[in-house]
Amino acid sequence: MKEKHTPEISPKPRVGFYNFSGCSGCLLTILNCEDEILDVFEAGQVVSFLMANRGNVEKNLDIAFIDGSVTTKEQEEFLLDIRKRAKKLVALGNCASLGGLQAMETGRSQFARRYQKVYGKTSPTIIKAFESKPLDAFVKVDCSQMGCPIDGKQFLFAYARLVRDLPTELSLSKVPVCTECKWRENQCLLLNDELCLGPVTAAGCNARCPSNNTGCIGCFGPADEQNLTSEINLLKSKKFSKETIERKLRLFGGTRFAEQVKKLLRK
Ligand code: SF4
Ligand code: SF4
Ligand code: SF4
Repeated sequence: MKEKHTPEISPKPRVGFYNFSGCSGCLLTILNCEDEILDVFEAGQVVSFLMANRGNVEKNLDIAFIDGSVTTKEQEEFLLDIRKRAKKLVALGNCASLGGLQAMETGRSQFARRYQKVYGKTSPTIIKAFESKPLDAFVKVDCSQMGCPIDGKQFLFAYARLVRDLPTELSLSKVPVCTECKWRENQCLLLNDELCLGPVTAAGCNARCPSNNTGCIGCFGPADEQNLTSEINLLKSKKFSKETIERKLRLFGGTRFAEQVKKLLRK
């Protein structure tokens, strides 16, 4: 008698979504993908997603998605624990990938003063806080998706590949926003002396702001291929003060970019 062949069904990858310091807007972006959110839960076994799931459990994961930066010792320890349990770790958004808005003062040695301004002089007894840092300051990050918040479509594209264990690039961070701006045939705002960080900012938003006549403020973080010196010199030639240039570049640039900007503006 012929043996019946039962096709092997591979188990769904175990997926966890976590958030550290930030506004949780990146995870909300995923939840806002209302037409696809059931497919997200169908394609992976979502074992932890506090904002969306009941009965969350902490166990081994195939993929961990994290938004938010690390600002406390407790988060650092939890991150190390997630890293140990996850085969792949994905940083979602500007906070997780670069340190976020909360890292804009990095390198100015004023963390204690800012902390006191908010919480007073009482020493913290439960939470040990420090200057905001991106995930890769503590653990290996396998992929990063840029944006503040991330782009939902980019996430879905990447998620579909990740749950199938296919190689993926999570962002278009190589080229700057100017590339997308040119594809959309916009007139360059810099020609009208408007401050725009498109030349140094990672693409991925389809040049949303310049297409609406507003300068890019860099929310996708620095592009891989950009010339910061040239952008600074260009903005200086347009008579923007060093303070304005530094404030704009620090806003979403992240911890490492902030140091670079500081050095270049000192020259
Ligand atoms: S990257 Fe922006 S949207 Fe995402 S968690 Fe941070 S602040 Fe919120
Ligand atoms: S408007 Fe901004 S993003 Fe567009 S081409 Fe000019 S500098 Fe680049
Ligand atoms: S144009 Fe710049 S500021 Fe606007 S969404 Fe894109 S990256 Fe963010």
